[in-house]
Amino acid sequence: MTTIHRIHNFAAGPAVLPVSVLEEIQRDLIALPGVGMSILEISHRSTTFESILDRAEADIRSLANIPANYKVLFLQGGASLQFSMVPMNLLGAGHTADYIDSGSWAEKAYKEAKKVGNANVAATTKADNYSRVPAQSELNLTPGAAYVHMTSNNTIEGTEFKQLPDVGPRDNVPLVSDTSSDMFSRPIDVARHGLIYAGAQKNMGPAGVTVVIIREDLLQRSQKSLPTMLSYAVHAENKSLYNTPPAFAVYALGLVMKWLIQQGGLTAIEKVNQRKASKLYAEIDRTGFYRGTAHKGSRSLMNVTFRLSSEDLEKQFVKEATAAGLDGLKGHRSVGGMRASIYNAFPEDGVDALVSFMREFERTRG
Ligand SMILES: *Cc1c(COP(=O)(O)O)cnc(C)c1O
Repeated sequence: MTTIHRIHNFAAGPAVLPVSVLEEIQRDLIALPGVGMSILEISHRSTTFESILDRAEADIRSLANIPANYKVLFLQGGASLQFSMVPMNLLGAGHTADYIDSGSWAEKAYKEAKKVGNANVAATTKADNYSRVPAQSELNLTPGAAYVHMTSNNTIEGTEFKQLPDVGPRDNVPLVSDTSSDMFSRPIDVARHGLIYAGAQKNMGPAGVTVVIIREDLLQRSQKSLPTMLSYAVHAENKSLYNTPPAFAVYALGLVMKWLIQQGGLTAIEKVNQRKASKLYAEIDRTGFYRGTAHKGSRSLMNVTFRLSSEDLEKQFVKEATAAGLDGLKGHRSVGGMRASIYNAFPEDGVDALVSFMREFERTRG
């Protein structure tokens, strides 16, 4: 048997997947057990695929404890299409949607909403380079807003909301959250949201599928005049099978959900994620050689951003880390520095390897 060498993949997305999931995909790729055909070849109308889709949905529902009055949809177009679909479906003429501008993705979502209707920036931390998320006291909410949009984890800047903002009585103003980079990294209170969306390729599976969880009453807002493929109501009525869904991505996402359940679910994985992140932050804070870019109260458990005293040193760090098998540590071009993305499937020994590398780098360069 050949030994397969895997390096430590700190990429922000698409990102690391559990090895056991990759092995299962590999083993069953030519022929799904009992089916004799590949997942890449079967009809999306087959009972085999329907049961794969149903299983994935059931596992998502049990993991996140999703109330019965919410639909789970599997869509395409990434989280970026949701930036448009959310206002197209939920923002009626004459209404205003509030946007909490906590990072580059949040700002993009706001810009798309403005193309569709009235959008208000309820708070922004742009002047602080998005190094923290806005506090509750900073929120300037529109009474009777169509919805409030937030980004639970700011992938690029490495910040996250530690608790959900209070946007008033839940039935009045729905909270809409882009959870693309922390979906299922910690428990989520679905009932406090009107809509939750996440591209799968960070924490849930491969690229190609976007999960949308929507409270049923909001489906009434989807106007008949919407392009069919952009209507939540159409996708909900057709159980995500209006057209051909991304069958392979749904299948792989389902395997990741099964893996997550085996890990003990969201409370258990949150503990692991806290432990992994705190090891890295402790190293960042140890001497001052490294500088964390996020305010301590907003630090993300998923994307750990840090800098060195000069860009030259940062380049050297990334180069040597890559050579040492620690890949994908270069920060997003808009922020610079380094970013270690340590999603659910990122192994703890990879965090330990990075900490050792950081110590050695400081010892020789500090
Ligand atoms: C990656 C990301 C997006 C964009 O996702 P796509 O699937 O590439 O469209 C949006 N929001 C957040 C928070 C992200 O991390």
